[in-house]
Amino acid sequence: MNTFTRKKTKPLKLIIIGGGYAGLSALITLRNQAPDAEITLIDPRPSHLIITRLHETVHRPLSKIQIPYSLLAERFDFIHKQQAIQLDEDRLKAWNLEKTIQLGEESLPFDYLLIAIGSLSSPSVNEPNVYDLNAIGQHCFAKVLEQFIANTDANEKTVNIVGAGPTGIQFAFEMAHVLHACHADYQLNLIEGSDRLLAAFPCEIAGYVERRMIERRITLIKSQFYKGIQGREILLEHSQSGEKSVQPTDLTLLLLGKKPEILLHANSSGQVVLEHNVLRQLFTAGDCSHFDELGSNLMTSQSAIRKGKAAANNILREAGLLSFCLPYMHQDIGYLLSLGPDDAVGWIGTKNNIISGLPAFIAKEAIEAQYDLLLSGINSYVL
Ligand SMILES: Cc1cc2nc3c(=O)[nH]c(=O)nc-3n(C[C@H](O)[C@H](O)[C@H](O)COP(=O)(O)OP(=O)(O)OC[C@H]3O[C@@H](n4cnc5c(N)ncnc54)[C@H](O)[C@@H]3O)c2cc1C
Repeated sequence: MNTFTRKKTKPLKLIIIGGGYAGLSALITLRNQAPDAEITLIDPRPSHLIITRLHETVHRPLSKIQIPYSLLAERFDFIHKQQAIQLDEDRLKAWNLEKTIQLGEESLPFDYLLIAIGSLSSPSVNEPNVYDLNAIGQHCFAKVLEQFIANTDANEKTVNIVGAGPTGIQFAFEMAHVLHACHADYQLNLIEGSDRLLAAFPCEIAGYVERRMIERRITLIKSQFYKGIQGREILLEHSQSGEKSVQPTDLTLLLLGKKPEILLHANSSGQVVLEHNVLRQLFTAGDCSHFDELGSNLMTSQSAIRKGKAAANNILREAGLLSFCLPYMHQDIGYLLSLGPDDAVGWIGTKNNIISGLPAFIAKEAIEAQYDLLLSGINSYVL
């Protein structure tokens, strides 16, 4: 795999749009294999956000899960341009043809371009005491919660988390832990539109989560679709009967999931395929990509990391810097949900292999630590 067959004398010019899991995994792979490549990363944020740890911001500062791109740029020798890029089919075709991307007044030529812009959360809601993924990713939620607890008057307060997907569940357990530790007088609800929790996972996982919810005083409200929020009331509609109701709320977390703004189809090398044509200079990876031939397209960090790595190796192969590399074939090898500071549940290896409690928590921490290591310059991903 590492056999170098250098054909070019000029250093490769590479542009990566999006510095999330896929973009950074590609960047690190490229930097390791092509030390003299000129790499530019375009991302509107000042820092990389370790979003798989976002629920931890319930009790720790946001800065603990942010790594400034300036620091990563020093570590992996790239230029960071802090800008958002608009994408559409015409632009993709023009970039592939001209091998140049326009950043305001500046023209940036490239040999290969990788698009890894992830997915978007639902549009932001501008209401007091309502926080969605965008807001949580920008504010220190631990401070918000601290103030909420401090400002609480004598009456019990109601906290609602809308969306009982993996993110909502992880937040619910962290919140329950903090509220309990602060002896706050609260009612914590987790509201779900469907009638089954974690429908995409083996039912033993949902069973374990529901039992733990009862122990942690988290009330699960199923079959209620979120229809909006007005002041201190959440508007709900029953998924079967259509009956409308309101749920009082003092603090609301809207965790309704993410979906790609643009979904780029790719071949098994990660090259963008548009109208059945392969755009040879353009690659894609992560949540914004769909590899049509092989491998997992789940919107998970492990798929994003592997897609990024596969796309980077295939860029190097196209450029003649690598004589051989495998197509993207990754299948997810597990999924673990954190349930507070010392508990987790999920599957590893096969979906029948459920683990829970402390072993699951340790496994989850090990997965996170492996990513931390990658960003610190130690690549321990074998698969
Ligand atoms: C709260 C939460 C918890 C999660 N927990 C887990 C977990 O425990 N395990 C797991 O496997 N998966 C988890 N996921 C899913 C996982 O985080 C995603 O699948 C992964 O982040 C996708 O990586 P990505 O690189 O495609 O996108 P992202 O990591 O979202 O990165 C996209 C990057 O592109 C940038 N960008 C966006 N638009 C533009 C633009 N127009 N121009 C330039 N740059 C742009 C963004 O600023 C961002 O830096 C979680 C997701 C969330 C939201």
